[in-house]
Amino acid sequence: MFNHSRRRLARSFTLSMGLILVTFAGLVYGREVRDRIDTLDRALYSTSQVMIGGVEVTHYQGQQYIDLEDMPLLGDDSRFLNTELHFARWYTTSKTLVQFFGPIPPPRLMDQPGLITRGAAQTPTGGRGDRLRQLTLPVYQNQILIGYLQIATSLHPIETQLQKLRWFLAIGVPITLGAIASVGWILGGIAMQPIRVSYQNLQQFTADASHELRNPLAGIINHAQVALMEPIDPQEQTMRLETIAAIATTMGSLVSQLLFLARQSGELPAHQRQRVNGATLLAAVIAAHQEAIAAKPLTLQTQFPADPVWLWVEPDLWRQAIANLLSNACRYTDPGGTITLALSQQTRWAIITVTDTGIGMTPADQAAIFKRFYRVDQARSAEGFGLGLAITEQIITAHQGKITVRSHPGQGTCFTIRVPLAPDYES
Ligand code: ADP
Repeated sequence: MFNHSRRRLARSFTLSMGLILVTFAGLVYGREVRDRIDTLDRALYSTSQVMIGGVEVTHYQGQQYIDLEDMPLLGDDSRFLNTELHFARWYTTSKTLVQFFGPIPPPRLMDQPGLITRGAAQTPTGGRGDRLRQLTLPVYQNQILIGYLQIATSLHPIETQLQKLRWFLAIGVPITLGAIASVGWILGGIAMQPIRVSYQNLQQFTADASHELRNPLAGIINHAQVALMEPIDPQEQTMRLETIAAIATTMGSLVSQLLFLARQSGELPAHQRQRVNGATLLAAVIAAHQEAIAAKPLTLQTQFPADPVWLWVEPDLWRQAIANLLSNACRYTDPGGTITLALSQQTRWAIITVTDTGIGMTPADQAAIFKRFYRVDQARSAEGFGLGLAITEQIITAHQGKITVRSHPGQGTCFTIRVPLAPDYES
């Protein structure tokens, strides 16, 4: 599944980047062609202007005469003969050929004024000639048309350079596409990694939850089957039904915890929070555990500052988080032990600690206790599902807080919570 998604991601990336690359290469090539033709056209036009500059016109009895001896195209001594021009032709105002150099032209001017590209003509030896860029220009002197100049130059040098560019693009584009595909594959892998991890976590969570629900379900089925057997002692039937009810209650609590973990994720929005006096909130949690503390018995100490410490929390969630820590402290501390609940503040943080003198944990267990369904020892935590600390951590993280643990086996455990103070505390 993940490889399939990764392939799709890489393919989409390669296709989109490839499209951009090919479009870009096409634009670069098109622009290069246009630039070179523009430069050539400008050069052709400049040459034509130099040629026109040499034309001498004389007027006699209303007629115009052009001195052919001064014509720039005439004769072997023309300085344009050895230029890059392929041909040059001079036509009269009635478009009749007067003089030229280069291949023999048609006797009359057939082309319209302007710039055109001519297809490859045959060479005298029968080979294929170059394509030409041709300029046909009506020539005026004192606003009077004196003739037409037609010049052309070979496109061969430009085409050779463009051919090189085409080769470069033809080799470079596929190589770059290959590199893009590899990068896409690597990026796809990186992008899939968090999804893969959360999918594995979800799978693990579902498997653990199903496992936890299977045992009590089996208990319910067993007791129900025995209770349905005939004949049965009414007292035993009552006992079985009570057991079923007790198991169902435990299952209910497990399901609520699972639902909580599934629903409550991410940062808690501001509208769900209140400015709460930390000491008041902790006192409410202590009151709810008073009975359990007295029953063991345990000693409870509190260390609250004289001034209020204002928390910015959702009170019910926060009570649940502290209650989980306090009930664990009760559960994992032997009779006669002490639990200390302390509240203090440090610049922008409120600090809450829950310390006990209980059985403690090894460093390896401390690293794992916030994982879902983690229990240090099934026997010693028979009452719990290993979800309490995971829920506590999730609540604290949702408030941008942090929970840490320090513990020594046989000596006790201390959980420390840091949570930001209410924003208007200083005001
Ligand atoms: P449970 O509901 O099973 O107690 P928790 O997530 O609350 O699950 O705790 C996970 C494990 O951490 C427990 O199985 C327990 O062994 C250990 N633990 C938690 N709190 C304490 C503590 N105060 N002292 C010693 N061990 C603790």
